Amino acid sequence: MDVFRKLGVIEVVFSGGNPLLRDDIGEILDYASRFFVTTVYDNGSLAAEKVDALRNVDFVAISLDTLDSRKLDYIKGVSGACEKARKSIETLKNEGISVVISPTISQFNQHEIVDLTKYFISRDTPVLYCLYSYDYPSDDRLFGIGKKSDEFEPTDRRILAKVCDELISLKSDQQGVFITTKVLNALKQYFSTGQRTWRCEALRGFFIVDHLGRVAGCHLRQSITSIVELADKWDSFEFEKLREEYNTCSRCTYLCYIVYSIHASILGNLGIIRDQWRNLRLLRTTNKRVNRH
Ligand code: SF4
Repeated sequence: MDVFRKLGVIEVVFSGGNPLLRDDIGEILDYASRFFVTTVYDNGSLAAEKVDALRNVDFVAISLDTLDSRKLDYIKGVSGACEKARKSIETLKNEGISVVISPTISQFNQHEIVDLTKYFISRDTPVLYCLYSYDYPSDDRLFGIGKKSDEFEPTDRRILAKVCDELISLKSDQQGVFITTKVLNALKQYFSTGQRTWRCEALRGFFIVDHLGRVAGCHLRQSITSIVELADKWDSFEFEKLREEYNTCSRCTYLCYIVYSIHASILGNLGIIRDQWRNLRLLRTTNKRVNRH
């Protein structure tokens, strides 16, 4: 994380697997939250037991894809997953820790996304989205996420474009939709026409570090250095060539990579703040409200 500071990193996102499985996660998150906007992803199974580790983070994202408990248990492949996720959300809120819901939009739940969003934002809980994406197997990627499933792979793009439209209109009069209008418009265009209006900014707007300290532009690309050598290589010719290559890549549609590509520059970061300032205020006031009790 001291290397991240040297590079001027603003936000660090801890995801997995489940980062809360680590025994030293409290120490790691405390250090991270002193210097960066710190986000942690949990599938809802551990957050309630790890509140002390999570006390200083900016927000915890709990993945919850549907309000139907039987469906959620089916998606997660674990009976009782929904109950645990809801308990985690309640516990974090009661403890004054900012929590957001993070549904993965897929063919399976795309019809429910707007209702799920309305349900949680009406309860002062913001919603931050992921998009189901499949990693095509390759030997040179840093690691793989998920597996191919026709049941989840979005095929009805018209509906996804409509979801983007409905979220844009929901944003205009309600707080809690944690995605910028610029990203929603880019996604809408992509789902409607297949055209990307953004270029990938891997290794410029974001990069990945795995649990062994290996660094890659994204998890679908091979490791290019180790964290200890990253600062020395950041401005190298080799990294510039890689940036150019990634800039023309259209291999994936991971929503977090799209967001960090669209908002990669300093102006892009300001764009997020401008778009989301009401939501940031919502998180702060929710916290203050809880802390006062
Ligand atoms: S589009 Fe960007 S994030 Fe996706 S695989 Fe290509 S380089 Fe990686």
